[in-house]
Amino acid sequence: MNTIELEGINVRYGRKHVLRDLEWTIQPGITGLLGENGAGKTTLLSVLAGLRRPDSGTVDFSGAFAAPRFGFVPQRFSTPPEMRVMDTVSYAAWVNGLARRDSHDAAVRALEAVDLADRARDRVRSLSGGQRQRLGIAAGLAHAPDVLVLDEPTVGLDPAQRVRVREVVASLGRSRTVLLSTHVLEDVHHLCDRVGLLTGGRIAFDGTVSEIKHKMHAQESGGLESALERGYRTLMDELGGGVQ
Ligand code: ADP
Repeated sequence: MNTIELEGINVRYGRKHVLRDLEWTIQPGITGLLGENGAGKTTLLSVLAGLRRPDSGTVDFSGAFAAPRFGFVPQRFSTPPEMRVMDTVSYAAWVNGLARRDSHDAAVRALEAVDLADRARDRVRSLSGGQRQRLGIAAGLAHAPDVLVLDEPTVGLDPAQRVRVREVVASLGRSRTVLLSTHVLEDVHHLCDRVGLLTGGRIAFDGTVSEIKHKMHAQESGGLESALERGYRTLMDELGGGVQ
């Protein structure tokens, strides 16, 4: 399993400086990336997955693989709706470097992992939103990546679908390095070994879920917020609201 070290990462879009001398070590297991809208989470995930070159800084890997294989599950998985589920995943496996002859078997395994094997011959357009999300995960992991990066994998899912996706991500995290960005603190609570909080272009907090919970204002209790939500809000207050 791989540890990822980010050092001095800077990304600018024109005059907008989104990531600023960002330092972060991501351990094996499941790490959550939290941050407000516009904080730069998608940008950071793209840098990690090698989809975007930072203006400066380095991404280093240590562990079993000097050059790990990456899988990326975007926020919205768009794929031709007339394609069949199986072909979509085996094509993704081939694009990600598998030999054509291995892609079919890899797709079968990936569809089993996300519980979509029985839909293999159906067209993508016939899938529900949650099934399509799981198809995106299958497409991202069919080539057996060492590091899997997921951008808000449970957005727009109903509670049952969210639990199903959580199960898939949890089982992946046992054998590889998984990083997911999310707004859903419930997902963080159930899934993540560690959490990084991106604000002001940096990882301003890096710790465990229970450390966030203990951040909650001592005098507050009950109400409509969970302990994790209160802790997260307290932490954001301490860090200055998070907006650049
Ligand atoms: P998040 O995923 O946390 O919502 P993003 O990484 O998508 O944040 O975006 C961070 C900031 O950079 C936002 O203000 C966004 O508008 C801006 N941004 C993102 N991508 C681009 C781009 N390709 N060109 C210009 N600005 C961008």
